[in-house]
Amino acid sequence: MLRIAVVGAGPSGFFLVEKLLSQDTTPVAVDLFERLPTPYGLVRYGVAPDHEKIRNVTRSFDKAAGRAGFRFFGNVDVGTHLSLDDLRRFYHQVCFTTGAQTDRHMGIPGEDLPGSHAATEFVAWYNGHPDYRDRVFDLSAERVAVVGVGNVAVDVARILCRTPEELATTDIADHALEALRTSRVKEVYLLGRRGPAQAAFTNPEVKELGELEGADVCARADEVELDPLSAAVLAREDDATTRKKIDILRSYAERARTGKPRLLTIRFLVSPVALLEHNGRVGGIRLVRNRLVEGVDGELKAVAGEETEDLPVELVFRSVGYRGVALPGLPFDERRGVVPNESGRVVDRLTSEGSPLLGLYVSGWIKRGPSGVIGTNKPDAAETAESMLADARAGQTLAPEGHDIAPLVRERQPDVVEWPDWQRLAEHEAGLGKPSGRPRVKCTTVGDMLAVMRKDLGLRT
Ligand code: NAP
Repeated sequence: MLRIAVVGAGPSGFFLVEKLLSQDTTPVAVDLFERLPTPYGLVRYGVAPDHEKIRNVTRSFDKAAGRAGFRFFGNVDVGTHLSLDDLRRFYHQVCFTTGAQTDRHMGIPGEDLPGSHAATEFVAWYNGHPDYRDRVFDLSAERVAVVGVGNVAVDVARILCRTPEELATTDIADHALEALRTSRVKEVYLLGRRGPAQAAFTNPEVKELGELEGADVCARADEVELDPLSAAVLAREDDATTRKKIDILRSYAERARTGKPRLLTIRFLVSPVALLEHNGRVGGIRLVRNRLVEGVDGELKAVAGEETEDLPVELVFRSVGYRGVALPGLPFDERRGVVPNESGRVVDRLTSEGSPLLGLYVSGWIKRGPSGVIGTNKPDAAETAESMLADARAGQTLAPEGHDIAPLVRERQPDVVEWPDWQRLAEHEAGLGKPSGRPRVKCTTVGDMLAVMRKDLGLRT
């Protein structure tokens, strides 16, 4: 029996588990390790609360968890409770599906001022991630800038613009719902450094911004017009999706305000060059106007011009991409923020010509970088699974001396969470949500989660 450890119970981890356990050529047992007591990673803590349908993918994760040969070890941190060497002693193969656990910075003066935050932290906060529940975001601010025009930026802008009534039927964390109820935010700016044709957000997401109950949306006519280079690319590639995106944005430029209490403005061809201080906090953002030029790789790039503009905003969220974090004992490509690999096999490019490290694999964002939607991780996991199974057939695996890691895990982490424990918490959360028509009310501290799992409510913090 091939024994496999998968580290990280987000979508990539589950897609990989499903792939490995649903094949019948090689008998496999998979142990899935997760730092938090809860599974699903960004599906629980990243997907916006008003996008509940996207969370339906957890049904297929639950199916994978129901397969013979699956075990879950939650609340176990590989790096703290277990080392890579511990895993090597018990498994033939180890695959890391740890995602991209931090965010990129803008690298501009004032970025560390109070009132300047990573969008990913705001997302984790409103989704009830235990590590972020105590963050404070000053929602007495009236004007907010979100830097970047990817789907995370759109999520953040949309949540800031939603009415409390719209949010109250979602599984948004209670602390966030309470804070957003008293929000004084009136204007939100989404800031793109390139033009509308290069915007990273997808069409359904940008269309949804035009359907908010409590916010008008607008764009500037001069900024949604295509520059000659973008127009030429679009004509050459005949890209219907981008055309549609531009049509949506043009329609926003033509819209008049309808008197909704909030205004969301989508800007293009502007880059932040500094956050401006006022009374020791963010008081504004200085933007420079860009033009597009063709880079050496043929991609259109933003180049700063002379013209600048100061936007008075009191809160800034940078949403310029996630970034992978180096894992102890594995090589790391600092530039791309990924573990170097070939079809999922970890390779040591740092010390040699890229020779594979026996028995070690990666899948998902730590393998290819933070791109694509949740489903993109499915074919990605299939590729890694194929590499793992091919190596196993060729006898290229680790040679573990131990058979069952469970006693060691329990010794190192007595509060280990198993799948039935999680199911108990999931049921409890769903039960709490029922009376108010919410899909669930999330427990947001590890103490609360463990108390529910152990059915020992006396322990609640
Ligand atoms: P993303 O799609 O890569 O977008 C990052 C944005 O930041 C781009 O607009 C990028 O502009 C901009 N940017 C980068 N560096 C910048 C800088 N120094 N100054 C100004 N702007 C800068 O990343 P993301 O929004 O974090 O999303 C990550 C992935 O998750 C994406 O694949 C996304 O589609 C996915 N996701 C999907 C959903 C959904 O389906 N609803 C929701 C959330 C996330 P350039 O293009 O010019 O580099």
